[in-house]
Amino acid sequence: MQSQSSRRLACIFCRIADGLERNPILYRDDTYTVFRDRRPASTNHLLVITNEHVRDVTCLRGRAEVVDGLVHVATTLLQKEDADLGDVRVGFHVPPMVSVYHIHLHVIWPWSNTQCLVRWKYKRKSTWFWLPETAKAWLRKQDGGDGAAPGRQQQQQQQQQHDQRQERRDSDDQLEGVTRRVAQLSTN
Ligand SMILES: [Zn+2]
Ligand SMILES: [Zn+2]
Repeated sequence: MQSQSSRRLACIFCRIADGLERNPILYRDDTYTVFRDRRPASTNHLLVITNEHVRDVTCLRGRAEVVDGLVHVATTLLQKEDADLGDVRVGFHVPPMVSVYHIHLHVIWPWSNTQCLVRWKYKRKSTWFWLPETAKAWLRKQDGGDGAAPGRQQQQQQQQQHDQRQERRDSDDQLEGVTRRVAQLSTN
């Protein structure tokens, strides 16, 4: 208990979720919190986090539904903000390219407003930034594994190969996915 609460105090995103920082909270429920990135990559740049401390997206083995939860919150907000869903970038940084080790979904729009360096940092066809679908595919693959932990290097290679295949398929599908989910939301 003590160690858990001191870990929460040591993590800036846990502190934000707990209301201990000044960051305005744009959305909060029992599971998720949303606030603005302190270095916005475009006019709008939100971070959707779990209130629970989860280190990063690769720690969600067996819990891929958390990715859906984060995307659902993001989609609802995008819809509320009347964002152009064809011009949004959504995804996770992957270790070691992680600035804060508390899982956060980046939601950036308009994507067309971003500059070169930003485009690189949040590049979808990269091993360091995963679209939600890429993250889910990776997690599914881990969960479906035989439990034998592959060596780190082998794991990274597999991940890379997987990303290349997956992201070829993903390309622009991710935003269509978001659009589809928004459509589903509005029919519910
Ligand atoms: Zn945390
Ligand atoms: Zn990040």
